[in-house]
Amino acid sequence: MKEWKKNIRQVLPYVPGEQPKQTDVIKLNTNENPYPPSPKVQEMCRQIDNLRLYPDPAAARLVNAIADYKGLDSSQVFVGVGSDDVLALSFLTFFNSGKPILFPDITYSFYDVWADLFRIPYETKALDEEFRIRKEDYYGENGGVIFPNPNAPTGILMPLADIRDILDHNQDVIVIVDEAYIDFGGQTAQELLKEYENLLVVQTFSKSRSLAGLRIGYAMGSPELISALHNVKYSFNSYTMNQPSILLGAASVEDDDYFRETTAKIIATREWFKDEMRKLGFTFPDSKANFLFAAHESVPAKEIFEAARAENIYVRYFPKERIDNYLRITIGTDEEMRKFVGFLKRYLHK
Ligand code: PMP
Repeated sequence: MKEWKKNIRQVLPYVPGEQPKQTDVIKLNTNENPYPPSPKVQEMCRQIDNLRLYPDPAAARLVNAIADYKGLDSSQVFVGVGSDDVLALSFLTFFNSGKPILFPDITYSFYDVWADLFRIPYETKALDEEFRIRKEDYYGENGGVIFPNPNAPTGILMPLADIRDILDHNQDVIVIVDEAYIDFGGQTAQELLKEYENLLVVQTFSKSRSLAGLRIGYAMGSPELISALHNVKYSFNSYTMNQPSILLGAASVEDDDYFRETTAKIIATREWFKDEMRKLGFTFPDSKANFLFAAHESVPAKEIFEAARAENIYVRYFPKERIDNYLRITIGTDEEMRKFVGFLKRYLHK
């Protein structure tokens, strides 16, 4: 082997869901929002100007809009290029003790990738038989804790009292709650920020704000944590947030009516879809996210996944131990979900 090859960083990258080239598909595979972003975002598009200049490295307009909306000080908000960027920087910033960080065995499959990339040791904790996170698993000595709430891909929400309990048992490390799906009926851990300065709550514009294509995520935490994130960001790339994202993201936050209306629609569709899926012989954990994680009583998930794909309906299938009989189905519009249910009825002869 050539000597230089030995020094190439070996990583097993995260595999994102498929983005099909053709447009005539029902796309229920990557938890995007089926509704367009707020019309205020469209309006703001016309005001994008001065792209010859560097953007504000602090993205102050967006940070202030988020801080105002959340009732926080801007020193408590950090923005990044999707929550993936915010989470990756958080791993780099906060998980440096050399002790293993903890996260569930079934969870967002980027966590172990970042841990490997940054050479952070980690231990995974098995979900219980009903796919719930066992809070007691996070009591021991560790280098930090991270989990999504609701968890992905299960959709199960952890009650705030359990998050508080995990924090009480983890006063010496940073605890990150990844709230990518919190706006679809969950209770945010934001109120715990007042009591726990080692808590970081991460949210995204990709799901509930219909802006996956813009790439905006943010962290909320004590000024000390936020300032540590800034230091690492400015040691890597000052201009992570481009000017259109800063302006359009702020416009989205300023239209709360639209946000409430579209998230409520998705919740209503999800609850209807749960009833339909039960009638078709599916079981699933009770999801509080914009997707359902469902297994059929007799037909293997892989077969349904492939048959749906052949009809241009894309859902997500993970060929991984414990979950390889489940499909993760994003909640689309009522019409999309009716078509998916129609396909299932035909396919399952129901
Ligand atoms: N956290 C979880 C649990 C997710 O499922 C996702 C979506 N892939 C993300 C974070 C990242 O989303 P984004 O980078 O689009 O904000």
